[in-house]
Amino acid sequence: MERGSVIRKSATDLRVAPNFSDYEGGRAAFSWRAALREIAGAADRVNLAVLAVDRHAAGAGRNRTAFRFLAPGSPARDIGYGELAELTGRFCAVLRALGIGKGERVFVLAGRIPELYVAVLGSLKNGCIVSPLFSAFGPEPIATRMNLGGGSVLVTTDLLYERKVAKARERMPTLKHVLLVAEDGGTTDVPDTLDLATLMAAASEQCETAPTGPEDMALLHFTSGTTGTPKGAIHVHGAVATHWATGKYALDLHPEDIFWCTADPGWVTGTSYGIIAPLLHGVTSIVDRAEFDAERWYAILQDEGVTVWYTAPTAVRMLMKAGAEIPAKYRFPKLRFIASVGEPLNPEAVRWGKEVLGLPIHDNWWQTETGGIMIANTPAFDIKPGSMGRPLPGIDAAIVKRNEDGSLTLIDTPDVEGELALKSGWPSMFRGYLNNEERYRKCFAGPNNEWYLTGDLAKRDADGYYWFVGRADDVIKSAGHLIGPFEVESALMEHPAVAEAGVIGKPDPVVGETVKAFVSLKQGYADSEALRMELLGHARKRLGAAVAPKEIAVLPSLPRTRSGKIMRRLLKARELGLPEGDLSTLESGA
Ligand code: AMP
Repeated sequence: MERGSVIRKSATDLRVAPNFSDYEGGRAAFSWRAALREIAGAADRVNLAVLAVDRHAAGAGRNRTAFRFLAPGSPARDIGYGELAELTGRFCAVLRALGIGKGERVFVLAGRIPELYVAVLGSLKNGCIVSPLFSAFGPEPIATRMNLGGGSVLVTTDLLYERKVAKARERMPTLKHVLLVAEDGGTTDVPDTLDLATLMAAASEQCETAPTGPEDMALLHFTSGTTGTPKGAIHVHGAVATHWATGKYALDLHPEDIFWCTADPGWVTGTSYGIIAPLLHGVTSIVDRAEFDAERWYAILQDEGVTVWYTAPTAVRMLMKAGAEIPAKYRFPKLRFIASVGEPLNPEAVRWGKEVLGLPIHDNWWQTETGGIMIANTPAFDIKPGSMGRPLPGIDAAIVKRNEDGSLTLIDTPDVEGELALKSGWPSMFRGYLNNEERYRKCFAGPNNEWYLTGDLAKRDADGYYWFVGRADDVIKSAGHLIGPFEVESALMEHPAVAEAGVIGKPDPVVGETVKAFVSLKQGYADSEALRMELLGHARKRLGAAVAPKEIAVLPSLPRTRSGKIMRRLLKARELGLPEGDLSTLESGA
């Protein structure tokens, strides 16, 4: 990554005194125990939703707006902390009346509508484990995740149910209830489902919260690896300490902030920072139902008076691509901090922020498994454009090398590439992959298995800043969304013409990577434009637009290792005209 000149910060750049201004001192003084006590008090009971919502509703924050929901063509809908406490209490009561209890899994599949937020928080109050699913997933990823997670309840909309769930319902044996929201705002009448609005109207807003402790499971976020089914990363109620501390240190939230996290709650950023962290800090969050639109986004930043903006590199690059004329029509006097996550943030994008929005963009790093931001650029400290920043208070990071015998070497020399590792013990660390202990165990190494290995390759410079190098595995990051090649290959293999499938991420200047598939055909099928279009259509219908390949190529056969694994690395090298690397394991003739 290019290392341009450092963006220096001075006190005059800061409109609000930052929460974190002494790097070494802040880290030395920090403890997770104290953080948890500060947010949750000394009680044994910890419930994410109670701390996020009811704590404010019971006090001076009751009338403050928690969420401002924007939707094209409709007036904004504001929900205050008091009303949110009542609605989430009602949702908790709805679940309880249906006999859904602590530890059962509730899946939520919806666009960014108020009911999604109410369902997530209300389920947490009922002690359920919540799994938000991305609404752009197709029927296959939805059914796979619902079944892996053993979902008892699905909250979705009438349209999404009809398009993506109804036909697969008999393949979801654990599903007891489907609660539907009418997309037109009315009520629904769909066989084998219940109308959520009717149930909510009949429910009491007083629902005693389930007794949950810091180690009780709260959230289930699916993520992907190189092989196998998606992995359900388990997060606990005690993660609240990380959500709170990172909201304070990395996003610099202050109670008067208007905060906009553009991520969808179907991905971990949209839950940890689109729902929980801002509520913990009692701020007002903007939620926009619409998809990306440059003009609309600048208008939201201006008209809603956004002060802290958390977005993603793909979105920034799309704004850059839309040109300078649109932002020239808007003013952003309230905006005081911009952060971004999910993919490498190009140095030009960091500087573009300063030129166009008046503020540089602050990159930060984390992943589904970490539950919260681990490494960040924050308001008070200089930015080295292209760097992810430095570890936050409470986080010990290292660059390591895994040795053949399973041991770990910590690389202390600056600027040497290795795998990014984090010392276990922060509260939002995942507690397992659901029903997959072995895959979980493989993520840890070193003395007492204390280092969590992230699967990312990175370097640390002499000043302690971390620089992203790439992934150690084959997962694909497209528009900030992590895609497992295996899931895509499996969907392609279901087509009768496909004998083998290999899927790679192809570099793209805007979305980071696009999904490209290579297939070989079964006997009796011949390559043609029509067949390739049919295969793309097949994948799109099953996987949804967010996951399906954008491009497909037919090869006579795919390169495999002698043990039979498709060599995606080689497909990628050939596609990009890069050196083919070590081919000693390649099956001869491929
Ligand atoms: P996810 O679990 O879907 O949130 O994806 C996490 C992965 O996204 C990380 O392991 C990285 O590969 C990538 N990622 C997240 N943040 C950054 C960043 N700031 N720079 C580069 N890659 C990132």
